[in-house]
Amino acid sequence: MKTIFSGIQPSGTLTLGNYLGAMKHFVDLQDDYKCYFCIVDEHAITVSQDRLKLRENIKSLAALYLASGIDTNRSTLFIQSEVPAHTQLGWMLQCVSYIGELERMTQFKDKSTDGKDAVSSGLLTYPPLMASDILLYQTDIVPVGDDQKQHLELTRNLAQRFNNKYNDIFTIPEVRIPKEGARIMSLQDPTKKMSKSDANQKAFISMLDEENKILKKIKSAVTDSEGIVKYDKENKPGVTNLLTIESICTGHTIADLENKYEGKGYGDFKIGVAESVISVLKPIQERYKELIESNELDDILDEGAQDASLKADKMLAKAKKAMGLGRVK
Ligand code: ATP
Ligand code: MG
Repeated sequence: MKTIFSGIQPSGTLTLGNYLGAMKHFVDLQDDYKCYFCIVDEHAITVSQDRLKLRENIKSLAALYLASGIDTNRSTLFIQSEVPAHTQLGWMLQCVSYIGELERMTQFKDKSTDGKDAVSSGLLTYPPLMASDILLYQTDIVPVGDDQKQHLELTRNLAQRFNNKYNDIFTIPEVRIPKEGARIMSLQDPTKKMSKSDANQKAFISMLDEENKILKKIKSAVTDSEGIVKYDKENKPGVTNLLTIESICTGHTIADLENKYEGKGYGDFKIGVAESVISVLKPIQERYKELIESNELDDILDEGAQDASLKADKMLAKAKKAMGLGRVK
């Protein structure tokens, strides 16, 4: 059975983008792959986090994985910082990475616009840590949204470089990006991706937003003045984003939806989109509420960390041996 690894940062409550671009696909993959799902809290601290809020987000993310359908009888769900091999191999891979290639990562450039003295060096060196997350599990496939393509390419390069220079120990992972939903856009600026760490709350739908909040946010989503519901990424990015959302949430094709809204204004359209989102998120929210109040979560995460460590420690030992770290035992 092939292996899948994927991580989500507990940097806020998951958005509809995270769900449609990542989480939703994880659920189906469990049938055919050995899956490792990781709450990557060490990535989250590359930007400033409130201590208590971070802890809350970690638990909440664990509950959202489960509420969305991750089945821990088949898959491993764990917290990155509870498996020390991640940072250990991460350091080794930093020593294999070049500063130049890390500075070329668009996510680093996007998140470091305030200047190099205003962002942490972790923001620059987080891609080798992400490579470590993936390579520790002999991962074959990494299912991610479109924004992670460049980091995955770097992971493959680092693995290849390590294999050539030291010993051929790492599996070279492949990236899998969904055909639809790979890039859900911000509701306030449809040329930017929807992000859970966006300072503007109106820009994203959180998976835990209440019904009327979802409706309100979609009603105030930026569209255009044409008043025609038509898919056109270039000229109508706002309408196109909403059409994509309704299409994935309902399973209806874009053409069907264009017909449905023919002759209708954006008011009706936005209500339809909101209803489709609510129908997807509501059952997840109900399961979430039960889980977050139960003691089940801690047991699941303890077991997950144990299970992940078994696999990760073996790979770490191989990497240390290949590089000549420590002693022969
Ligand atoms: P942050 O703003 O803190 O980076 P994020 O919303 O980008 O948060 P991540 O934790 O970085 O979320 O990514 C989790 C997963 O969600 C990744 O697989 C990523 O590719 C996917 N993803 C993130 N944003 C979107 C989006 N707008 N559309 C589709 N997939 C997305
Ligand atoms: Mg991100």
